[in-house]
Amino acid sequence: MKKTDVIIIGAGPVGLFAVHQLGIKGLKAVVIDNLDKAGGQCIELYPDKPIYDIPAVPECTGEQLTQRLLEQIKPFKTELFLNERVDEVHQEKENWVVKTNNKKEFIAPNIMIAGGVGSFEPRKISLKECEKFEGKSVFYAVKNKDNFKNKNISIFGGGDSALDWALELSKTANVTLIHRREEFRGAPHTLDELKKTGKVNIKTKYQLASIEGGEKIKSINIKSDDGKETKIETDYILSFFGLIMKLGPISEWGLNMDKKTIKVNTENFETNKKGIFAIGDICTYPGKLKLILSGFHEGALASVE
Ligand code: FAD
Repeated sequence: MKKTDVIIIGAGPVGLFAVHQLGIKGLKAVVIDNLDKAGGQCIELYPDKPIYDIPAVPECTGEQLTQRLLEQIKPFKTELFLNERVDEVHQEKENWVVKTNNKKEFIAPNIMIAGGVGSFEPRKISLKECEKFEGKSVFYAVKNKDNFKNKNISIFGGGDSALDWALELSKTANVTLIHRREEFRGAPHTLDELKKTGKVNIKTKYQLASIEGGEKIKSINIKSDDGKETKIETDYILSFFGLIMKLGPISEWGLNMDKKTIKVNTENFETNKKGIFAIGDICTYPGKLKLILSGFHEGALASVE
């Protein structure tokens, strides 16, 4: 059984920064994550997407942010246990014991849960025909933007991811952005930028109606609210309809849950269990914002002894 000061569950941006905040106070941590790499949503869902809201970093991708966070915690020589899902948490006197699916055990007086959205899955397009193209011509995340160079891309969605990717990919590809509503949910600044470039064909109040093609997609038909159909030459569909949260074992640890998040106080982000803290997307309190910046703040306060 490995003994440490703090067990951090989740190697997303927030868990990684917490290592730093604990480290500068002389506390040792281990980080456990069920993914095969550190970085959480940044690396798994948007490694290539630009991030614009990290203080003093005007622009970096999800992957660059992860690399920088890993660089920042190097001096603390923290052990990362990847491909390990924390399944059980129980108390032993003053300590908490954590067990993973591979039977690894850790013991510490404190746990920081930085489990994000648990195991996350993108919300899929409801059109049945999409299934057979998934992973070939239909994608729910961009892992390598170079794959889309000089292609016809139809992007679905109205949030930040759809807008950010439409802007980014329009630099090298022919992009149509399709949204079922008139209003976009994403940052108005990005939408303005997008309109200014004039490179993206924007179609609002449209939804995907059908797909044409054999092995690969040739074109799609989109249908407007008033029944008008439009054909769009398409090589790839990218869809950003948000994520479905699958919390996993976290909900079974006796914590005070609010839907799929853990209630914390805003003084030190402790949960209803003494010595168990929750930070980042997994925690909730009045006014909570699911941003990396907010998670950094929460990790800083949770690290104060
Ligand atoms: P996560 O990044 O979700 O990491 C949690 C980690 O915990 C995961 O790696 C998961 O595998 C692990 N985990 C969960 N349960 C267990 C378990 N039982 N055992 C072991 N490991 C476990 N925010 C911004 O501030 N700026 C942006 O520009 C921005 N863009 C975004 C774009 C997209 C497409 C998305 C989806 C989100 C974006 N966000 C952005 C939000 C941001 O990514 C999240 O706020 C951030 O990732 C939260 O970090 P986290 O460390 O709390 O959780």
